[in-house]
Amino acid sequence: MTSNTLPISRSRKMGQFQIGRLAYGCWRFSGTSLPEARKKINTALEIGANLIDTAAIYGFGKEGFGGAEAALGDLLDADKGLREQMVLVTKAGIHPPIPYDSTKENLIQSCEASLQRLKTDRIDVFLIHRPDLLTPHEEVADALNTLRRQGKILEAGVSNYTLSQTRALQAFMEFPFAAIQPEISAMTTETLFDGTLDMCQEWSITPMAWSPLAAGALASGEGSADQGQLSRIMAELNRIADFTNTTPDIIALAWLLAHPARIVPIIGSQKTERISAASAALDVKLARQDWYSILTASLGHKLP
Ligand code: NAP
Repeated sequence: MTSNTLPISRSRKMGQFQIGRLAYGCWRFSGTSLPEARKKINTALEIGANLIDTAAIYGFGKEGFGGAEAALGDLLDADKGLREQMVLVTKAGIHPPIPYDSTKENLIQSCEASLQRLKTDRIDVFLIHRPDLLTPHEEVADALNTLRRQGKILEAGVSNYTLSQTRALQAFMEFPFAAIQPEISAMTTETLFDGTLDMCQEWSITPMAWSPLAAGALASGEGSADQGQLSRIMAELNRIADFTNTTPDIIALAWLLAHPARIVPIIGSQKTERISAASAALDVKLARQDWYSILTASLGHKLP
């Protein structure tokens, strides 16, 4: 009989970097004032979330394309020394009104613009934000290989790619992917079954999970298109949270952390108290039975 609770490590490798098991995301960060940005990023770093995730597109529709990178760049400029405390991830390839453009020229221009906005000399991990169906994998890889040879990026990866798209792109790369970033949460479990998380273990790739609380639905119990699925999951999260004296959002994060691919959930809250509280997920002793009961609640049927 194995141990009844699932181990959660405190840190892991992402390519050449050592990172905490929680990350902090800047999707909702644009428009943040300098003092607020300072509080949020420092709170993330205090809980060990040293991976800071952003993207060129974040801010579009609000402060504008690049708004989130610019807010973070202003902070990095003001607080010298902060940059060395973080592993900086950004993404390229979404350029409204054209949905996706991962041509070599565009990826290189986008990376250079991100470097300027972020006021830094290198991107630690550069991700293709979404697959561009019209650019050959060979050309996308050429852009990433070129940027790495130039020292503008140190590691690379993909976001929202299928398993076969990831494998096809990797085939043209001069270096292995360090990371991928799919949506993963108790509400969105496809990567557990489609081979994505197996690939991560096979190739030592770090899976980050975007919207780990399903954009807040797994904290509030509201706001999902599938209210039936959300209600089933919330019943399990609340049951386990009551038993372990914590809250459902913490159990939802622990559920990701306990997966053997060592998923790194990206915290999206803009409230420092919630960023801080997320660290409790690292201490949850989730029972094997409870992990599976959350999964079956999500699927809506028993496992075979
Ligand atoms: P999330 O953690 O699933 O959702 C964050 C939202 O939930 C915020 O609006 C937050 O509101 C709310 N929330 C958190 N805790 C709550 C609580 N206890 N009660 C009620 N509401 C709560 O993550 P996300 O922001 O959707 O995504 C996280 C990161 O993933 C992003 O910042 C970005 O870096 C990345 N991302 C990547 C992609 C991609 O395509 N690669 C797509 C989406 C996101 P408050 O701010 O008020 O706390």
